[in-house]
Amino acid sequence: MRLMPDSFIDVRNTVDWINHHENVRVPVAKILTVRNETPASASFAGMRATAARLQKIIQDALAAGKRIRAVGAHWSFSDIPTAANGWIVETNKLDWRFAFVAGDMHISSNVTHDELLLCQCGTLVARINETLESPNSVFPNSQRRKALRTSGASNGQTIAGALGTGVHGSAIDVGGMESQVVGIQLLSATRNLWIERASAPVMKDGFAARLGAELIRDDNLFEAAIVSLGSLGIVHAVMLCSTGRYLLNTSLRRIRYGNIKAALNSLNFQGSGIPDETRRPYFFQAIMDPDDLWEDGDRAKVFCTVRYKEVCPPNHPVAYNLKKENSDGTDLPKLIGDIISLSPDFRDLATWLLMEILLKEQSEIGKADKWRTPGQTYTFTDARRGVASSGFGVPLAQVSNALAIMAEAFRAHKKAGVVLTCRYVQKSPGILSFTRYDPTCVIDIDGIDSQATQKLIKLVAQRFEAAGMPFTMHWGKTNHLTKARVRAAFGGNVDRWIVARRTLLPDQAERDAFSNDFIDAVGLNA
Ligand SMILES: Cc1cc2nc3c(=O)[nH]c(=O)nc-3n(C[C@H](O)[C@H](O)[C@H](O)COP(=O)(O)OP(=O)(O)OC[C@H]3O[C@@H](n4cnc5c(N)ncnc54)[C@H](O)[C@@H]3O)c2cc1C
Repeated sequence: MRLMPDSFIDVRNTVDWINHHENVRVPVAKILTVRNETPASASFAGMRATAARLQKIIQDALAAGKRIRAVGAHWSFSDIPTAANGWIVETNKLDWRFAFVAGDMHISSNVTHDELLLCQCGTLVARINETLESPNSVFPNSQRRKALRTSGASNGQTIAGALGTGVHGSAIDVGGMESQVVGIQLLSATRNLWIERASAPVMKDGFAARLGAELIRDDNLFEAAIVSLGSLGIVHAVMLCSTGRYLLNTSLRRIRYGNIKAALNSLNFQGSGIPDETRRPYFFQAIMDPDDLWEDGDRAKVFCTVRYKEVCPPNHPVAYNLKKENSDGTDLPKLIGDIISLSPDFRDLATWLLMEILLKEQSEIGKADKWRTPGQTYTFTDARRGVASSGFGVPLAQVSNALAIMAEAFRAHKKAGVVLTCRYVQKSPGILSFTRYDPTCVIDIDGIDSQATQKLIKLVAQRFEAAGMPFTMHWGKTNHLTKARVRAAFGGNVDRWIVARRTLLPDQAERDAFSNDFIDAVGLNA
């Protein structure tokens, strides 16, 4: 099908769509890159024009009988963003941001106008941090400096892409990124919706019209839309609720597994050996080598990263080094993978090298000049080809049991150059948030992409299932999710989400269009 030429849409026909890590390559019929009409000057008129343009693309895809997916920064390791032979809408050029005044707020809102930032879907997390934390044209008043409560470990995702899979970090008392959302704009072929919670209205009723949208206040639809897996339409804008700007410092300690185990299962740090056991860390992460864990048990070394939080003085200077989004990255992990494939005996050396890459930080406790804002702390990750990553969500109390199963599974695939990383997230509000346990520990198997690594990830899912371990998997990382596993993990939330999806996309043909092979296979396109 030929599209009417539009100077704000670049179209490529019959090409491969490739993700950032180049482990997903899918032939698609069209890739459409959409731009705002006046990229340098944000306006609500411009938002309405871009929304109309995106809706026209959806209508054209339906008329052509094609599946359609919006994508962000291509950072997912799984094929969730794509649709074979479908149309891909690249949204990463859509990065306008808007601040508000008191008169914009709903009378019952329990958040204030200066906490809010409306981000167009393609805004990078790095750009959001910069906008909130440092003086700029969106937030000109330096007294109003703010910060995100949480983000992933790196900052290269778009906001809609991060919400699309429910990205998390390890701020131990905060949920996934979706927990900061208070409003979301969703587009289908015929509807432009501004969705807030009925139980927590935020903007005056007239705000939706500024986006050209229809106002919907509904808790269920809101909780479905904040983690949409790209399957509820195109997310055009997201209202984030920020917090006061704060500073973090980082320290890394090697602690024996036997000493930290109780804390890994409880987030109670008394007697654990972290730098200040009397103080609740803002962030806690534990990394270990599964080989070491199996061989040495309680004596295994665990690399614990702890971050404490302080209020940020108003005059604190914040300098950023925002990377170009198309940075080439480094192929070091690929090189390490090649070394292991030459000789498995190099696995331990390679894993040590990987740890060195991951753990480049030193202790910053007591060094006043080392306090950084979250935007400076969570930066860009270069690693590109040759990296594998999966994330298993388990309930807090199950962490050491889950690690034991993983270490045992590792013995079957000892060539896997991987580490296990425990990160902690409070229960998140999306119906399909994979950080759904109260709280959740996400145990990543990260490392060198190889047959051994892929087999290990698959085996761990099988062993968890066989052991009756409650678990979810990160939607945007390598996963072995099946219909049965999604049902076991999410129970009745699967039905809640499907019902919400039918309300938002009542037309069966449009629901099919906003699906892909993965969504079909896990039973969510019903
Ligand atoms: C270096 C690196 C570090 C990472 N670190 C973390 C981490 O710390 N924590 C973590 O949880 N994950 C992490 N990940 C995984 C990654 O953050 C997630 O997969 C995230 O969803 C990718 O965001 P993206 O913008 O690249 O979106 P994509 O990967 O392009 O898309 C993700 C999903 O969002 C949907 N989507 C995108 N834009 C829209 C839109 N406008 N409307 C509707 N749907 C849309 C897509 O259809 C897809 O389903 C990391 C990945 C990399 C490469």
